[in-house]
Amino acid sequence: MKAIRFHEHGGPEVLKYEDAPDPKIEANEVLVKVRACALNHLDIWLRSGVASWKLAMPHIVGSDISGEVAETGRLVKRVKPGDRVLLAPGISCGQCEMCTKGLDSACRGYTLFGVMADGGYAEYVKSPEANAIPIPGDLSFDEAAAVPLVFVTAWHMLITRARLQPGEDVLVIGAGSGVGSAAIQLAKLMGCRVITVAGSDAKLEKARALGADFGINHRTQSIADEVKRITARRGVDVIVEHVGAAVWEACFESLSAYGRLVTCGTTSGQDVQLNLRLLYGRQRALLGSFMGGRGELFDALKLIGQRKLHAVIDSVFPLAEARAAQEKMESREFFGKILLHP
Ligand SMILES: [Zn+2]
Repeated sequence: MKAIRFHEHGGPEVLKYEDAPDPKIEANEVLVKVRACALNHLDIWLRSGVASWKLAMPHIVGSDISGEVAETGRLVKRVKPGDRVLLAPGISCGQCEMCTKGLDSACRGYTLFGVMADGGYAEYVKSPEANAIPIPGDLSFDEAAAVPLVFVTAWHMLITRARLQPGEDVLVIGAGSGVGSAAIQLAKLMGCRVITVAGSDAKLEKARALGADFGINHRTQSIADEVKRITARRGVDVIVEHVGAAVWEACFESLSAYGRLVTCGTTSGQDVQLNLRLLYGRQRALLGSFMGGRGELFDALKLIGQRKLHAVIDSVFPLAEARAAQEKMESREFFGKILLHP
């Protein structure tokens, strides 16, 4: 098969479009003909070697995959060749204490397609049967590939970790990111008032079309001042954040009493200062969040199948042009998901 692989860590130039061995399935696995694969920032960390995982080389990334079942192992019962499926991005043992509680991403064996298992930057990928989920409703392959990682992450952050309540005020950092565009929609669906932050007015306009009530352009406005103005100095109940150091102070200052800040990433840096007195005095909570469980993906897919939540697609590239696709992601000039077509 054709695949995009890298043989060493480095810049976008290490991505090679080349022949790779066809995946061989085990009895409990399915072979999927990839129809679309969405990019995530994780792909770039893995390529550049920033992430701490020790990858087998050459390596195929890509965690968000949709396609058709091409072949099934002899123990596979739930799906059959020809089925349209998306793949739950997280692979876990399914048997441990954490997995059975639905907390898959805390499984000690947890990994993702594209990390310790080959990913979707390829014509074919193999998957445990448990990860193959029928595509809901009339979703296209593109929409199905754009959904899993960002919606499971946004669901875990807002619903499971921050325990979002109807009508709360929510601040979403990074409106144009996949997680940002998912979180805006989910918070709106919960009847919340949504304030979002982006680096351009064009992105903020698109965020408003997704349901955001207020937009803050961090290049021209102060996040903390704007949140104070919009909330009459009260602050927001919940903050969804994945940028880290660059927005930390502004975020902490923007939290109401009993506010919850939930973070799932540190693209701008991971070390921050914390004023403990303002944490306990105002009874705020800081919450970490990493991916989510397959159960949460099913919850999100129900609403996506009903078209109450939408995949946001920025652009589509042929697989052979994965380098250009990753360069676009690194430029930050996108809104929603960037997809590859094998
Ligand atoms: Zn487990």
